[in-house]
Amino acid sequence: MAETKTWALWKDGKVNPEEAKVLRRRASEVPVPYNDAARRDIKAVVDSFLSRDDALGLAAPQVGISKRIIVFKTKNFNERERIKSREEYEVLVNPRLVQVRGAEEKMPEGCLSCPDVSVEVTRATEIKVRALDEEGRKVNKRYTGFLARIVQHELEHLDGKLIIDHGGTVSFPKKKEAFFTSLFGGEPGKQE
Ligand SMILES: [Zn+2]
Repeated sequence: MAETKTWALWKDGKVNPEEAKVLRRRASEVPVPYNDAARRDIKAVVDSFLSRDDALGLAAPQVGISKRIIVFKTKNFNERERIKSREEYEVLVNPRLVQVRGAEEKMPEGCLSCPDVSVEVTRATEIKVRALDEEGRKVNKRYTGFLARIVQHELEHLDGKLIIDHGGTVSFPKKKEAFFTSLFGGEPGKQE
């Protein structure tokens, strides 16, 4: 499977207004029970995710589908390899964050839709989510630690929110300083 292209706010020193439009929109609910289009959308998001070795998670808007579908790794976070088994990821459709608790933790995050930058983001370490799985069954999930972070990141994509909206310190490669300084204003972020 060829690697699926992901949509990004900018690429190669240029902003991407068309792709940004979808990334910034609130994605719509998947119709329940799933129709053919819904099943196609879910499969497209999962296939895109499985085609990459560099994603911890993927939300439908990142492949141009403005629907409430996310998929993410549940283990082996440090391995940069394509996922080989169904036990390594989860799919959530129409997910709803029903509880946020636990201590908050600050950590740098990256995002395929914000290439070349990392941003310090503070997130809760325990969440509960209600959703449907890829077959349309109701699921209640609890996520903790790093996995809770990944799921919160993907959930935000469904409401058009990205890591750069958190106001945390932005880091980017020094050789791309001119572009990112123009994007993020006169206050350059910490450079790598
Ligand atoms: Zn992301």
